This record gives sequence, C-alpha cells and structure tokens, in this order.
Amino acid sequence: RKIIVTIDGYSSCGKSTLAKKLASKLHYKYIDSGAMYRAITLYFLRNRIDWNDQSAVDNAISNIELHFEVNADTKQSEIFLNGENVEYVIRDLVVAEKVSEVAAVKEVRTFAVAAQQKLGDAKGIVMDGRDIGTTVFPNAELKIFLQADPAIRVTRRFKELHEKNPAVTIEEVKHNLEMRDYIDSNREISPLRKADDAIILDNTDLSPEETLNKAYELVLT
Ligand code: C5P
Repeated sequence: RKIIVTIDGYSSCGKSTLAKKLASKLHYKYIDSGAMYRAITLYFLRNRIDWNDQSAVDNAISNIELHFEVNADTKQSEIFLNGENVEYVIRDLVVAEKVSEVAAVKEVRTFAVAAQQKLGDAKGIVMDGRDIGTTVFPNAELKIFLQADPAIRVTRRFKELHEKNPAVTIEEVKHNLEMRDYIDSNREISPLRKADDAIILDNTDLSPEETLNKAYELVLT
C-alpha cells in the first residue's frame, strides 16, 4: 500500500536530503514544493513582475507552466519552468532573498498548492515544504516535522552555497535563513507550523543515513 509522506520544517534543516533518500528507498516519487515557489520567484524576477500588484500576479501566473522531470543520469527529479530546466538557477541566493515574499502572496499559494495536490493524485510520494502536512495533504498517512539547531543549519547551507559561489559569506546565509523562517512563520496564509499529528524528528546529531533510517522506521510502523 503506497502512502503520502510529508516533510515540513524550517529552512535548511535537511528536508530535501531526507525526502530524496526516503523516496528512493521506498521507490516513491520525490516532490520539492519549495522548488515551485523558487521557480515562480525566478519568473517574477526575470520579468520584473511586481508581486504586490494582484492583476500583474494573476496575469503572470497564467503564463507559468511548471513540471518535474527525472534526470536520466542522476535519477533526481528536476523542475522545469515553461520548458526550461531551472533546477540549478533557482538555488541562487538572489532567488532565496525574494522567495519568501513571493510565497506569501495568496494567488501564488493557490496556484502552487493546486499543482502540488494534483501531483498527489498518484500515491507513493514524498513531498517536502512548509505547509504540506497542514494544508496540501492534511490527510497524509505520515507527517514528519524535521528540526535541527539553527547554527547547524547555517553551516550546512553555507557549505552548499559557498561551493558553487565562493563570494557567498556565512553572514549572508545566516541572515537569509533567519529572514525566510520569520516570513514563512508569520505570513497570513498557511504559515509554517507543525501539523498536530506530525512526528518531530531532530537531526542535529544525526547523519543523513541515521535520519533516513529513523524516517524509514516511521513508514514501516
Ligand atoms: O524548501 P525551500 O527552502 O527551497 O523553499 C524556499 C521557500 O519557498 C521557503 O523559504 C518558503 O518561503 C517557500 N515555501 C513555502 N511553502 C512550501 C515550500 C516552500 O512557502 N511548501
């Protein structure tokens, strides 16, 4: 019996690392909901869309098509924005600096949540994000709320971003995570919350493999 697994939590606590590994172990599909908000943000930035202007947002959204494709070499799912693979550009700090503002816009969330729910029609998925257990799949069979100490989260994300762009500083990364966590937790529409029936998993002192094993046990029970 295939189920829906949701993984929510603050920025950079290892949600996508866990979600990818768990999906592959279960032979499930992995869906990165944050990639959708990032791709929408990229579109808005490139096309200079003012996300405080509702009709501009509505119009822009009607021109956005998002889908995921599995990369034949890496076997990883990658996001496409209007036919273009944007999996790597959306990880840039330029996008990360605006994504939480964009993700707080009602029309953006309505569009993204509908697309996510549609992907959930096929069971056997692991989806990570901020509101997956509370809003997107309130009836999911297994909900995980992943946590890690803030200092660890900054170090992990800094390593990742610094490898790609040596100009990135640890202060910038720290500021970005704090800002996103603040906006994500305080926005009006489906703010980041642990679902009442979600299980807390803290990976501060766990390796990715140990975290995976704990999550896998939860699937089996
Ligand atoms: O998961 P990731 O860090 O890539 O998400 C980027 C941003 O997208 C988050 O900081 C948040 O503002 C937004 N997001 C959201 N709801 C989700 C997933 C991501 O609002 N389900």
